[in-house]
Amino acid sequence: MNLTLGIIKPDAVSKGLTGKIIDRILSEGFQIRAMKLVHLTKKQAEGFYAVHKGKKFFEELTNFMSSAPCIVMVLEKENAVEEWRKLMGATNPAEAAEGTLRKQFGSSIGENAVHGSDSEENASIEISYFFNKLELV
Ligand code: ADP
Ligand code: MG
Repeated sequence: MNLTLGIIKPDAVSKGLTGKIIDRILSEGFQIRAMKLVHLTKKQAEGFYAVHKGKKFFEELTNFMSSAPCIVMVLEKENAVEEWRKLMGATNPAEAAEGTLRKQFGSSIGENAVHGSDSEENASIEISYFFNKLELV
């Protein structure tokens, strides 16, 4: 599968970085197959991040993700999962490589500007969490 789920997180949307991040996504050769602005409820954020339930950052993460609107997108490219994670950079912006989105736009390990699926299996699950088949162009 050459699709992945990307999210422009609430920190980046609130700072007005949406346009810059989308511009970068397109210039790196991704096609946007679906996109919407959503303000997750706390329950929806908990459902999305269910794999992290029980971790010490789960509360902080789900509070943050439901604190303000974010942009959810389906991105297409060859090896989309891996390529998008490469463009995002390491989870902690302080450790992310030069030129990555998290290095450029992230402010902390929690508020790190973007999300990306970590495997094809999870990409499939995450895409269907937000989009139905008719919404994928
Ligand atoms: P990634 O988003 O790079 O796949 P994880 O799946 O490990 O990283 O974590 C999911 C999200 O949880 C991270 O993007 C970040 O927003 C948040 N997070 C991860 N680790 C921490 C931490 N130690 N403290 C606060 N938030 C964290
Ligand atoms: Mg992850």
